[in-house]
Amino acid sequence: MIYLDNAATTQPSRALIDIYQRLESDYFANANSNHLAGRNAEKYLSKARATILESLGVEMSHRAIFVSSATEANNLALKGFALKYQNRGKHIIVSNIEHPSVYESVMQLRDQFGFEVTVLNVNHKGQVRPEDVRMALKKTTIIVSIIAVNNEIGSISPIKDIADIVHQHSKAVLHVDTTQAIGKVSLPYKDIDMFCVSGHKINALKGSGALVIKKTIDLLPLLSGGNQEFGLRSSTISIALAYTLAIATKEAIYNQQKATINVTSLYSYIRSHFAKRNNVVINSPSNGSPYIFNFSLTDKKTSVIVEALSNEGIMVSSISACHQKLTTSSYVVKALGRSEELANNTMRISFDKMTKLEDIQAFIKAFEAVVARIRT
Ligand code: PMP
Repeated sequence: MIYLDNAATTQPSRALIDIYQRLESDYFANANSNHLAGRNAEKYLSKARATILESLGVEMSHRAIFVSSATEANNLALKGFALKYQNRGKHIIVSNIEHPSVYESVMQLRDQFGFEVTVLNVNHKGQVRPEDVRMALKKTTIIVSIIAVNNEIGSISPIKDIADIVHQHSKAVLHVDTTQAIGKVSLPYKDIDMFCVSGHKINALKGSGALVIKKTIDLLPLLSGGNQEFGLRSSTISIALAYTLAIATKEAIYNQQKATINVTSLYSYIRSHFAKRNNVVINSPSNGSPYIFNFSLTDKKTSVIVEALSNEGIMVSSISACHQKLTTSSYVVKALGRSEELANNTMRISFDKMTKLEDIQAFIKAFEAVVARIRT
């Protein structure tokens, strides 16, 4: 199999699966238990927490809450903060290319809890303009939430500039969906009030994730129970999931530069091939993440091509896996100002640090053969 759908999920590393199995059998005790096995489990949990914060360079300013996914982290950050601090104001700002775990969370806050939401349009490169954030800020704004790297097209928003504006001009916090950025694109983590890590996007296991928040921030917990995770996320933690998430985060950050050099060369290769091709509109901006390449076809159906490639053992995506079942049209590509037809007909190729040039060459060869063969 040639797997080029790494923005949907990555293959967990063999080494991490082995560590996971060992820890799950050796450190299964409840980290809250008041006996030796519990205390040993708690030691691993603390080590995992410290490793995540240190890897991201935020050990002095932030704390990490273990959760199950970036979806949960985004829900907890947005709803937890909004509901906790709603007496300060009920205005939230987001962009029009947020992942559904952010967008639907704020829409629920709007529809069920009376919050006001401003949705900022991105520019033609899929970036939020800092100036637009400044203009949208109000006295009542309590959260600005902006995606760092978009999962469909890889566009990168200027998070440092946005953070400066939010902090200089308002009392709001900045939440950033960093799911597709961790270990791939450098970000000023210290300047971000709340952000997330998703294990399965960085070769760790599904079911692992963290919400990282400034120490000064409190949240209304969404889960009530045994008060684990500073009382912010009750439920017994898997030491094995937390620890493997920490190792994956450390490795992703440590290897970021080297991996980016490799992936950038793959990206340039694929981009230059499709740039020369007729009937292709490239949706990924040239200054975006090298891990995600997205284009639309004007004359053939990408869903048919994706299916044909899949039959040949090549996995790519025709639209983000997160909302594949809800709609066939890409709201992200539409946000770039593209037509309905182009937004309906996208294809995403996404890389991992392990992706090889041969994989890309095999994909291009198979793609061209399929396109020549099919009529629609
Ligand atoms: N945000 C972004 C930008 C994503 O790409 C994804 C996963 N597609 C998520 C959030 C949700 O991540 P998870 O699968 O860990 O819930």
